[in-house]
Amino acid sequence: MYEDLRNSLESIFEERLFYKIEDRISYGYDGSFGQHTPDFVVQVKSAEEVQTVVKLANKFNVPITPRGASTSLSGGPLPVEKGILMDFSQWDHYLEIFPDDLLIKASPGVITSDIHKLADQYNLMYPPDPSSSSICTIGGNLAENAGGPRGVKYGVTKDYVLGLEIVTASGEIINTGGNTVKNVTGYDLTKLIIGSEGTLAIITEATLRLIPKPLATKTAMILFDDLYTAGKSISAILTSGVRPSKMEILDNNSLNRVEDYAHLNLPREAAAILLVEVDGHPSILDKELITIKEALTKIGVDKIEIAESAEEEEKLWQVRKLVSPAIVKSGYTKISEDITLPLSKIPDMFEKIDKIKKEYDLNIVVFGHAGDGNLHPTINTNMRDQGEVGRVEDAVEEIFNYAIALGGTLSGEHGIGTMKRAFMTNEMGESGVLFQKAIKQALDPKNLLNPSKIFPIAGEKRLVLRND
Ligand SMILES: Cc1cc2nc3c(=O)[nH]c(=O)nc-3n(C[C@H](O)[C@H](O)[C@H](O)COP(=O)(O)OP(=O)(O)OC[C@H]3O[C@@H](n4cnc5c(N)ncnc54)[C@H](O)[C@@H]3O)c2cc1C
Repeated sequence: MYEDLRNSLESIFEERLFYKIEDRISYGYDGSFGQHTPDFVVQVKSAEEVQTVVKLANKFNVPITPRGASTSLSGGPLPVEKGILMDFSQWDHYLEIFPDDLLIKASPGVITSDIHKLADQYNLMYPPDPSSSSICTIGGNLAENAGGPRGVKYGVTKDYVLGLEIVTASGEIINTGGNTVKNVTGYDLTKLIIGSEGTLAIITEATLRLIPKPLATKTAMILFDDLYTAGKSISAILTSGVRPSKMEILDNNSLNRVEDYAHLNLPREAAAILLVEVDGHPSILDKELITIKEALTKIGVDKIEIAESAEEEEKLWQVRKLVSPAIVKSGYTKISEDITLPLSKIPDMFEKIDKIKKEYDLNIVVFGHAGDGNLHPTINTNMRDQGEVGRVEDAVEEIFNYAIALGGTLSGEHGIGTMKRAFMTNEMGESGVLFQKAIKQALDPKNLLNPSKIFPIAGEKRLVLRND
C-alpha cells in the first residue's frame, strides 16, 4: 500500500513530494511542543492537486493533515495519525484586490501581512491581525478563526470572510458564500468551516472583506500597582463611551522578560501595563484619550503615558510584539494558553493565576488581548523535569476549569488541536460534544481530515504532553 501510494503521489508532485525521514521530520512540529512525523509531505499548489490527494487518501484510507506555516500553538497541524501532510506554504502566488468591491481574494498559503500590505496600498484595511501575521498563512488563520489585538473593535477572522473555495473530504470542490457582504442563501457553511481546524474541509481560496483604513491612531500606556485593578480597568475603559482599537495587557513578569530581552527602559516595578490604541479622525483621538483618563481616575488609576509621536507609538507596540520572543529566549518549552472570559471576570482570573503560580511553583507570565477578555497565561517549563511537568499539567487543568466556572472558554483564538481536546467535555458537556461530532461524521465519515484533533480521546483526561 505504502509503495503504491508513494508512486501515485510521486507521479503528480515529483520534487514536491517528500518521503525520506530527513525531509519529513521537520514537518512534525508546530508552535506548541508536540512532535509527530508524517509518512508523506506534499506541497500543493492548486485546488485540483488538493482534490487528487484527497481522492488518493480515500482510496488508500490514509489521513490528511493540512499545514500552513505551522505557527499553531495548539498542535493543529501536527500529523498525529501520520499519513499525508499537505503543505500550503508554497501556494502563495494568488493575491488579488478588487478595491471598488472592498474585497481581496487569496490562495491559502498567502502570508497574512501581505494581505495587510496590499489593502494598505488602496487606503483599505484587512483588520484581523494575529501577532504572528508576518509568518502565518491566511489558510491557517481561517482554519483557526484567528484573532489579534484589533479584535476589541473590529472582531476576528470570521467577520471578514465573504466566501471560501473548499475541497470536501470526498474530494469535491465547492464554493461557500460569495462576493457579497450579505448572503443568506442556505446554511452558513463559510462560518462552519472557519475555525474547524482543518477537520471538516480543506480551504483552497478565500474571499476577504476590507474596510476603509482609519485616518490616524494614538496610543497610551497605563501603569498599574496591582493586577486586580488592572483587570477592573478593562471594563471601566470599555464602558466609558470610547471603543479602543487595541487593548493589550502585560503582567509584571511579561514586562520584565521584554525588558531583559530588549532593554527598552520599561517600568519594571509596575504590576501590569495596559496598551490602549484609539483610531479614527485625528480631531477626536485626544478627546477619546481624555474620556479614558477620566474613567480610570474614577477607579483610582492615574499613571498614564501618551505616545506623542509615531515613533513613540511604534516603540510601545514593540513591547507587545516582543513578549513571545522574550519568553522563548528565556528558556525551555513554552506552553501558551488561550482562555477567554467575560470581561468582568478578568480580575478574578488574575488573582487565581497568581495563586496557582505560587502553589505549583511555576514560571507563569500573563499577557493578552485584554479588550476581548482573552488572556494568554504562558508557562515556561523543562519537559525533562517530570516533577515539574506534572505540576504544569495540574496548573493548566486548574486554569481551564476556573475559566469555565467563570463562564469563559478554553480557547479564544488558538483552537483546541491536541492540547485542549481532553477538556472539551468540561466546557460543552457530553451532548454538546456529540452534537459537534455529528457534524464531523456527516462531512468526513471516514475521519480522514486532521484526525485526533478537537474531540476528546478515550481515557485522556489531561493536557497532552506525549509524542510519537
Ligand atoms: C508568536 C506567535 C504569536 C501568535 N499570535 C496570535 C494571535 O495574536 N492571534 C491568533 O489567533 N493566533 C496567534 N498565534 C497562533 C497562530 O499563529 C495562528 O493560529 C495562525 O492562524 C496559524 O496559522 P498557520 O499558517 O501557521 O497555520 P498552521 O499552524 O500551519 O495550521 C493551523 C491549523 O489550520 C489548519 N490549516 C492550515 N491550512 C489549512 C487549509 N488551507 N485548509 C484547512 N485547514 C488548514 C491546520 O491543519 C491546523 O489545524 C500566534 C503564534 C505565534 C507563534
